[in-house]
Amino acid sequence: MNLHEYQGKDILNSFGVRIQRGIVAQNAEEAVAAAKQLTVETGTGWHVIKAQVHAGGRGKGGGVKLAKSLKEVEDIAGQIIGMNLITPQTSSEGKKVHQVLVAEDVYYPGESETEEYYMSVLLNRGIGRNMIMYSTEGGMNIETVAEETPHLIFTEEIDPATGLLPFQARRIAFNLGLSGLAFKEMIRFVTALYTAYIKSDASLFEINPVLKTSDNKIMAVDAKVTIDDNALYRHKDYINLRDLREENPIEVEAKAVGLNYVDLDGNVGCMVNGAGLAMSTMDLIKQSGGEPANFLDVGGTADAARVEAGFRIILKDPNVKAILINIFGGIVRCDRVAQGIVDAYKNMGDAIKVPIIVRLQGTNADLAKELIDGSGLDVQSVVEFQEAADKVQEVLG
Ligand code: GDP
Ligand code: MN
Repeated sequence: MNLHEYQGKDILNSFGVRIQRGIVAQNAEEAVAAAKQLTVETGTGWHVIKAQVHAGGRGKGGGVKLAKSLKEVEDIAGQIIGMNLITPQTSSEGKKVHQVLVAEDVYYPGESETEEYYMSVLLNRGIGRNMIMYSTEGGMNIETVAEETPHLIFTEEIDPATGLLPFQARRIAFNLGLSGLAFKEMIRFVTALYTAYIKSDASLFEINPVLKTSDNKIMAVDAKVTIDDNALYRHKDYINLRDLREENPIEVEAKAVGLNYVDLDGNVGCMVNGAGLAMSTMDLIKQSGGEPANFLDVGGTADAARVEAGFRIILKDPNVKAILINIFGGIVRCDRVAQGIVDAYKNMGDAIKVPIIVRLQGTNADLAKELIDGSGLDVQSVVEFQEAADKVQEVLG
């Protein structure tokens, strides 16, 4: 589950990580009230207005702006809320902004007095350990740094048995070129950050920039936080943080009916039982020159109700021009699945307007083919995998 910046910062703050303070606002009026409150709490006269969408690179797209008066807070918030923010990380259509974070300006009195660093905590699957990646070259161009000057990015691997050790925290502060108060602040920062990562069951923290203020405090100015979905049962208080407006609407609907569905760009809808078979089905479609429109694992019980739910989800994507159903009958018998497909098809009335190719293999595959072929429906049945992909190409023309 991906979080908004303001939600990520709240989590960091709850574990003692210093953050740039801010208040979320849904409209210009709330933004002004938020700015006034921040002035009382922090003494700041200037505020940054930051679009809250699930995409990075907001600064480059005009989604992060400095306001030097309440009038500017009102104008900028009014302009950012409702805009379609296009950044290097969104599609070309951009993302609609529903809310902004009004934050204290922490770069005061000027950018020359501050330093921006990059820091992320993530799982390195290759070594089976969490690691902290960090760089002196923080700010808005970390992708370029990674490409052109990768030696400026450091990593610290963390042994799960010991957690982040004090000497590792010191090494990070040292490699960032810090001394004195800032050195101590960085040790506190990174130690609290790692604790927050572990305790919140996150799979990614990306803090860019981590800021050294003009008075040598270290704080998170941005926060990209991803919480591991499989651990959400341990964090009931995080469940309300999910913002469905930021997620693909078809995927949200699929999840609600218990289907594992991922929306893709192609035109061949796929319905498969088992994630592995679904992946190889997508590969085969691609190898035969097609493009999968989705990944859909209907799971072990491919009965009429689930197949029908699958059809309805797949057909919500207007790009789908053919559907390939690929089922391996191991525990579930193919003839039962075939019956499910026939029943679902009939239940759908005339909602299905695209050709369907079914490949059923495994227990009772012959019976299944007979059932499909004898149904009189516009469903073509095949037995071999390759044959199925060829048939898809044939119907697409
Ligand atoms: P991103 O572009 O989506 O990564 O959004 P960030 O939260 O990282 O903000 C983008 C940039 O805005 C930062 O790299 C800073 O340079 C700038 N910025 C953020 N907060 C402040 C602030 O308090 N004052 C000033 N002057 N600039 C800020
Ligand atoms: Mn950032």
